[in-house]
Amino acid sequence: MKYTAQQLAEIANAQLIGDPNKVVKNLAFDSRIIYSVQDTAFLAIKTEKNNGEKYIASAIEKGIHVIIAEQKTIDNDEVSWLLVENAIDFVQKLARYHFNQYNISSIGVTGSNGKTIVKEWLYQSLSDDFSCVKSPKSFNSQLGLPLSLLKINASHQLGIFEVGISKPNEMEKLQEIFSPKIGILTHIGSAHIAHFQNEKQLIEEKITLFKNSEVIVFNGDNDLAFSILNEKYSSKHLISYGFGKHNDVHIISDWKDRTKDITVTCLGEVFSFPVHQRDEATLVNALAVITVLYHLGYAREKIIEKIHHLKSVEMRLEAVNGIRNNLIINDSFNLDLDSLKIAYQFIKEYNKPNKVLIITDFVEKHNADELYKEVADLTNEQNFNMIFLVGEEIQKYQSLFKALSFSFNKISELIKSQEFNKLENQLILLKGARKFETEKVKTYLELQKHETVLEVNLNKVLHNIRVHQSFLRPETKMMAMVKAYSYGLGGYEIAEFLQHHHIDYLGVAVADEGVELRKNGIITPIIVMNPEQHSYNAVIDFNLEPNIYSFRVLELFYQQLKQADFVGDYPIHIKLETGMHRLGFKEDELDELIQRLKQMNIRVKSIFSHLSSADIPAEREYTLQQFEVFERQSERLIQGLGYTPIQHILNSSGILNYPEYQYDMVRIGIGMVGICYNEKVKPLLQPAVAFKSVISQISEIKKDVSVSYGRRYKAEKDTRIATIPVGYADGIPRLLSNGVGFVGIKNAIVPIVGSVCMDMMMVNIEDIPAKEGDEVIIFNGHPSLEEFAHYCKTIPYEVLTSISRRVKRVYVKD
Ligand SMILES: *Cc1c(COP(=O)(O)O)cnc(C)c1O
Repeated sequence: MKYTAQQLAEIANAQLIGDPNKVVKNLAFDSRIIYSVQDTAFLAIKTEKNNGEKYIASAIEKGIHVIIAEQKTIDNDEVSWLLVENAIDFVQKLARYHFNQYNISSIGVTGSNGKTIVKEWLYQSLSDDFSCVKSPKSFNSQLGLPLSLLKINASHQLGIFEVGISKPNEMEKLQEIFSPKIGILTHIGSAHIAHFQNEKQLIEEKITLFKNSEVIVFNGDNDLAFSILNEKYSSKHLISYGFGKHNDVHIISDWKDRTKDITVTCLGEVFSFPVHQRDEATLVNALAVITVLYHLGYAREKIIEKIHHLKSVEMRLEAVNGIRNNLIINDSFNLDLDSLKIAYQFIKEYNKPNKVLIITDFVEKHNADELYKEVADLTNEQNFNMIFLVGEEIQKYQSLFKALSFSFNKISELIKSQEFNKLENQLILLKGARKFETEKVKTYLELQKHETVLEVNLNKVLHNIRVHQSFLRPETKMMAMVKAYSYGLGGYEIAEFLQHHHIDYLGVAVADEGVELRKNGIITPIIVMNPEQHSYNAVIDFNLEPNIYSFRVLELFYQQLKQADFVGDYPIHIKLETGMHRLGFKEDELDELIQRLKQMNIRVKSIFSHLSSADIPAEREYTLQQFEVFERQSERLIQGLGYTPIQHILNSSGILNYPEYQYDMVRIGIGMVGICYNEKVKPLLQPAVAFKSVISQISEIKKDVSVSYGRRYKAEKDTRIATIPVGYADGIPRLLSNGVGFVGIKNAIVPIVGSVCMDMMMVNIEDIPAKEGDEVIIFNGHPSLEEFAHYCKTIPYEVLTSISRRVKRVYVKD
């Protein structure tokens, strides 16, 4: 897009203050991740949780000269303002206008699952034949869709956009700005259903998108969706796909039989093709693509060829720690301008001052000169210390890059180079086209070449937090418990992510954990739940806030404050005993507590307590009693103190089961991981942690042959045994030996056989078509963390915190 400030004001009915001729080509809404200030306008978005106005100053400081906001907040002659009623409405109006300027064909994809894959696959299938534009990643929301639409320009013939909603009445708004010719409804699942009355309402809302569509392609396996669409849109051209035989497009072969090709009937025409990946989700997404291609008039052979060439959609950026304290951000799945911009945004989230870029030739392009010029301009704004250009083409443009740069023909040459091997304390962004195999750089730099990893999906952590927040009032604060190495998930990485997403408080168990976070640049307030006496110094030095739960602790801490000559009121938190019988002041101590506190230079920031049984429905009475005691005690404390500290008592289960007692703040812990003890909410959460390994070796053994120490297992028949490089030193309890525990391999669940060793264990894979090097799931979806905890006869909390530090933690973002 390209508009002047004047045009923007006219299109979206905004009041313009300042230069009407300023040009706007990009919109930014997060001042921390602005990757380019050239012709960029900053959009101050107000949400329930946050107010973008707070960041206007930092956007201006970075060099942005057009601000779109509800009010003018800063006097600066260089800045032009567009004053609007609501920033989201503004982008939506603009996108609607923009979309209507171009008469392009359009496909709109909605549904609960599979939107992004179907969109990406359609793009892969159609971009050879049409000049296509698509939503980047899964930009599909009230803001994401408009931003995607603004990418349309005069060269495009076809737009493929995904559209997502989470609450009632959202689709109507999106339909007004984007009305696709071809509508696609993918699988309907339980995502967001909590905000709707029932599934029917959810489906009806989603299909509003198709109001003006000519053709609707939909997953017909959901009976309700099938009947609603046929009823509501009987006058439109409807094509259904899915596993059910009633669908216009469905599979007729036995798709579970891996030795056979998949055969599909498509409105009467039959065709077969080989498919390697056979899970239901992949197949049904492929059916959606086949249906659209068929509708667009592609011949059978062409469709088979296109399906054959679909590439798995890996849209995640992963961050791993490398040797010499380098942090590697690996994004080597596709390389185009959009994904480069996203990667540049992504690295802004890390506060590493030293940055290095490794970038390869772009594979898909129209005009190389223009493209590399744009790449260089964009890159020059990022302040990389050093740039490595890999590929014969991109090195021709080396002079365009301002940072110190080196060029190579191949990745293998780069890895051998001296400059590369000297890198230390750097954030290394790896941005390469697939065919250059840039992942080799990652492998080379990885700390230890560990095959066993604990993978933490940060987006899912955020998703789970949002699900919990949906039970709370918008103004209720949230503390994230990151004690015990963030429940085993990692140290500052999780805290940094949460800080970036404006968590109000962090909770650690002991002072050392808090100090570690501060040393890594965490500035969010941190409460220390169990401050040990020897650490009070560190507490004060690192601005940590202690939990004070007894007179002994209060007096000792106060002594330390005096010794440190602390000036001002030190923030502390008072814990009340209400029924857990662990730590806390008791009711009859309150009067004395008030007296003492009044004599000290201390400020009580919060009063809190902890529930013993928020996850146990049978203990509801007891829990309600805890609230009652808490309310009575804190009221007394507040009266006595003469001011009102914030109050909090709910943990994760409490949030879901007793939201009426949220007070001013809640403390989320295990819920972030995706574990919950509320059956209704469970399907809404996403498992955020995966413990994975690989098969080191496979042995064929005969009947009666024994496996592992002590010969506790002997094969009952000839079979195949896989050895996995993870053992009790990694956190797999030895009690899982010999059939007690299971792991997932190739979607099958197989038993551990023989004794679990210190660093290895064996599983019986029989005739599962696994090979050495294949992935092993210790827990993820299947088996789940809960199931694994069940094998171990314990709870997910203990499983996670028992995973040894030597297991590498990898953080991914979708
Ligand atoms: C660990 C902890 C929590 C979080 O509990 P979850 O059950 O993981 O949600 C909350 N409050 C306190 C005081 C804790 O120690």
